[in-house]
Amino acid sequence: MADRYLHFTGTAPGRFLTRRLGLPQPAPLRRWSPGTPTLDGPLLHLTAGDSTVTEELSALLAATGLDVTERVERIERPERPERPAGIVLDATAVVTPGGLAGVHAALHPVVRSLAPGGRVVVLGVRPSADDHHQAAAQQALEGFVRSLGKEIGRGATVQLLRIDPEGVAGAESTLRFLLSPRSAYISGQVIELTAAAPAPVADWAAPLAGRTALVTGAARGIGASVASVLARDGARVICLDVPQTGDELARTADALGATALPLDITADDAAQRIAAAVPDGLDVLVHNAGITRDRRLANMPADRWASVLDVNLDSVLRTTDALLAAGTVHRGGRIVATASIAGIAGNNGQTNYAASKAGIIGLVRALAPRAAADHGVTVNAVAPGFIETKMTAAVPLLIREAGRRMNSLGQGGLPVDVAETTAWFAQPASTAVNGQVVRVCGQSLLGA
Ligand code: NAD
Repeated sequence: MADRYLHFTGTAPGRFLTRRLGLPQPAPLRRWSPGTPTLDGPLLHLTAGDSTVTEELSALLAATGLDVTERVERIERPERPERPAGIVLDATAVVTPGGLAGVHAALHPVVRSLAPGGRVVVLGVRPSADDHHQAAAQQALEGFVRSLGKEIGRGATVQLLRIDPEGVAGAESTLRFLLSPRSAYISGQVIELTAAAPAPVADWAAPLAGRTALVTGAARGIGASVASVLARDGARVICLDVPQTGDELARTADALGATALPLDITADDAAQRIAAAVPDGLDVLVHNAGITRDRRLANMPADRWASVLDVNLDSVLRTTDALLAAGTVHRGGRIVATASIAGIAGNNGQTNYAASKAGIIGLVRALAPRAAADHGVTVNAVAPGFIETKMTAAVPLLIREAGRRMNSLGQGGLPVDVAETTAWFAQPASTAVNGQVVRVCGQSLLGA
């Protein structure tokens, strides 16, 4: 079901009417397509305090090929009225609440001039467990970023990226992602990177060349989009879905030059059959298959509870454990699981679904450091919010409208937004991204 309201507010009468009535005015979001530049204008590199990573960060930003400037004056010169399309504010040196004044001083003069659909990435470090002044200052950045995300408007997004000052190079794939249209529906997120060194990238346009990826639940919806984006990025893709999806699965796989694997992921021998289908092993494993069987707890029979927990959580645990133990997932591999904002905020009628999705978050956080240490594999999760799919088209009109508008971007996301996030996790250059749960929800009002 198309978002007619979004189209209406994009017309002159629509803009006039919605402004007069004080209704939301969502800005159409720019997604990535071939030939799209990462940013449609200059990138401002600003610094609060005496950062120790300035030089390394400048070199990294220069390597992205973006038009980077560290001088605010340039955009204020009338002969160069270019608005910045992105701002990276290095706040890693902010170690006291007083130092936060530097954040205000850096962003206050430029935030209004940010181009529509612009990107703000604030760089911080992990709040210290030993220094409560540093912890206060760095945690303050989180509240700052989440508030700016809510007020900035015009399709712009704001994130906090906590880097390890020893591992600036590991931030490149994440900065490229967050500054680009690929992250159009992500805002108000806090992402924390480890110091792990990234694998070298031969071609940023095909980062998954030579890699094999398996996507569960890939016949349609978000999974089909994930398969398509991974194939676009160069991966050989295997699309797994239940045998009942027959033609739909075959059509999706054929269109991508992918292999169809009809298999119920809850089958006892699912991991063995996956391993048999990829004799040379796997680089990327995407657990996307998921079901809902909504009822309030008082009305929920045990079978509705059990099936949701089995598909959404147990099968993910079983296949992940078995494929890691068998060495099917290569070193340098990536596991991406699918949570949901329902698993963070909870949802009426979804005790089973929210429990399963919260379980995914627990799995990801606990397994990530061990999988990296023992297998050289990262484990992350996407947590989609309201995504325009057949599932959400079936939601009654008023609830659907509320779901669409109750986020900072005032609209639903698209399957491709979840797919781009998965593709960023999957990149060989994303070794430092581990144990993260990234919400693709336009900064939904539900949950953190
Ligand atoms: P969808 O129902 O369109 O697609 C899910 C796919 O998983 C289907 O093709 C289905 O056949 C497959 N599947 C179900 N059980 C399976 C099994 N036992 N083995 C193998 N495949 C199985 O759903 P979607 O909207 O594309 O959602 C994809 C994922 O994203 C799910 O995990 C869902 O919970 C999650 N999610 C979706 C939204 C949203 O707004 N659409 C929001 C949050 C989370």
